[in-house]
Amino acid sequence: MIDEKKGAILILSGPSGCGKSTLLKEVYKDITDYYFSISTTTRAPRIGEKDGVDYFFVTKEEFEKDIENDDFLEYAKVHDNYYGTSLKPIKKALDEGKLVIFDIDVQGHEIVRTKLDSIVTSVFITTPSLKVLESRLNSRNTDSSEIIEKRIKNAKGEVEYFQNYDYLIINDDLQIAAKQLVCIANIARIKSKLFDNNKIISTWLEN
Ligand code: ADP
Ligand code: 5GP
Repeated sequence: MIDEKKGAILILSGPSGCGKSTLLKEVYKDITDYYFSISTTTRAPRIGEKDGVDYFFVTKEEFEKDIENDDFLEYAKVHDNYYGTSLKPIKKALDEGKLVIFDIDVQGHEIVRTKLDSIVTSVFITTPSLKVLESRLNSRNTDSSEIIEKRIKNAKGEVEYFQNYDYLIINDDLQIAAKQLVCIANIARIKSKLFDNNKIISTWLEN
């Protein structure tokens, strides 16, 4: 039999405010056996965000120590703050055969692709337009106008990277976008197993 106990990675990227967190909350009830990767960041928590739930919030010094210790699978500077994915919990979740979900930026996507390409499925999420993105960032009401401006400026550059992803979801109607994401999450596990080439062939020959 082909070993079912092999995990897969699903990467979500897209401009801040496009709806990644909202979409994920919506799909969790429809997928099983997943592990959401909680990133570490030096950015300040927003109102309502909890340490260890939304992010691990650390100081710049603590983050740089983790870099020195080689603790990250990937990390990047986004909007002037560090964001990174710790390697240990990811390894554990993959060993347990889980679908590991990342909400990381385009730089992080590139690094994880290089390191773990065969088990990665990626989806770029965006709004129908820049105007809609601006209005979502404003109505989320969590960031100062200065920070929003920076995020909008970054978004213009980030959107060009959608071509490096396996799938694109335009998050206009939340329910439609959530259905699309559930389909992609399910296919991510199947794709990951397909890439275990040697094992598939030897198992097929032996049985
Ligand atoms: P991200 O995690 O990508 O930064 P959020 O999930 O925080 O984005 O969403 C940004 C804002 O947009 C939130 O206020 C959220 O309620 C709203 N939002 C998300 N998806 C939709 C949608 N499909 N239609 C309308 N508003 C949305
Ligand atoms: P926010 O501050 O809005 O929560 O996130 C800002 C950006 O950082 C988003 O594009 C998000 O995907 C990205 N991000 C969050 N965690 C990580 C991470 O661990 N690594 C990388 N490379 N980007 C991350």
